[in-house]
Amino acid sequence: MLNPATLLLVLIVFTTVTTVLMVMAALPADALAEQRLWAQGNVAASLGFAVGALTDYHPLVHAGLSYGLIGLGMALVLRGLRRFCGADLSALAVGGIALGALLLPAWFAWVQPDKGARLIVSGLYLGALSFWSAAILVRRLQGSSRSGVAASVAGFVMLGLVLSLRAVYLLLEPVARVDPERIEVLAGISVLAASVAQVMIAFGLILLVLHRHADRLNRLRLQDSLTGTLNRAGMDALGRRVLARAAAARRPVALVIVDADLFKAINDRHGHPAGDQVLVHLAGVLVAQVRPGDLVVRYGGEEFVLVLDGLDAASAALVAERLRALVEAASVVVDGVPIRYTVSLGVACTRGAPDALDAVLARADAALYRAKQSGRNRVCVDA
Ligand code: GH3
Ligand code: MG
Ligand code: MG
Repeated sequence: MLNPATLLLVLIVFTTVTTVLMVMAALPADALAEQRLWAQGNVAASLGFAVGALTDYHPLVHAGLSYGLIGLGMALVLRGLRRFCGADLSALAVGGIALGALLLPAWFAWVQPDKGARLIVSGLYLGALSFWSAAILVRRLQGSSRSGVAASVAGFVMLGLVLSLRAVYLLLEPVARVDPERIEVLAGISVLAASVAQVMIAFGLILLVLHRHADRLNRLRLQDSLTGTLNRAGMDALGRRVLARAAAARRPVALVIVDADLFKAINDRHGHPAGDQVLVHLAGVLVAQVRPGDLVVRYGGEEFVLVLDGLDAASAALVAERLRALVEAASVVVDGVPIRYTVSLGVACTRGAPDALDAVLARADAALYRAKQSGRNRVCVDA
């Protein structure tokens, strides 16, 4: 059933298809740099497999060079994985890994010819690289990219097992003593498993990239492009969640509306781009002053909303007063010109009954209106 010629054909088809897939995914100009590394890695490893089939040549070719290329391919994939996870692998390390993959089997092909030892060291070496790849994904991307991580980790683990189990088997049963037919069956099974692993890795890596793009788009959809805070859609999506969670835990939630005073005049005097800088400054002050779980939303042009989890009106009023004072004391320097500005703030808090976000917001807005009416640069709290 496991005819060697058929299996070799399977390996060639699988390797070619996955390599073409990875190269095509890496070709578009907006592809990630990591995808290019993965494509290069696949090309190098495929070349390695091809060279490995040249058994009529000196073992240095089908053993040394072949394993060197496969090692180079795996090192490039590793480099891509490390970069994808926010770390890196130096070019020197990539070269070192490839050199190790070449020299170890070459030693047992040329200096001290021993086929068993050659298969064992290269199997363990490449197996370790595969497990390392799986470990990077598990450690760094845990909980993030779901199916992409699962598929590629499963692929790397499967490849690592194929490579190292064969080596362990040969360690226990010296090649000379193993029934040649048995070796053939084993080789067939490992070729099949390695092919399936390759497909899983390729699809897993492509899923990882897809999920990363989707996450990025989702974040952009909820984010204000000028200030990087949440936009209205972001508040709708996340604000309700904060309110629901707090209601379940019987915690209050305070909303603070922050509106820049006489902002039209700032634009008129300093220009719209300078006005933008002031908004970026205001957003920076707000983000720096709230706690990690709180939300900062750009609700309108020069109007921000803070969603403060666990704060009652009195505590939120203290936060609001601190913010007011910080803004009043600061000056934003644009093109060497210092710009001073102030903000008015309206504070309201949930009242225990299941509160709609809009209802609390309307009360905070009424408080803001009073702050504006009574002279601006002040905090008013919903009664
Ligand atoms: P008040 O104290 O009553 O809030 O006065 P105001 O001038 O701040 O309020 P008004 O609503 O009259 O004007 C808001 C101004 O904010 C007008 C608009 O041009 C400006 N604005 C809105 N969005 C942006 C923006 O993205 N960048 C800049 N530079 N200005 C903006
Ligand atoms: Mg204003
Ligand atoms: Mg306004």
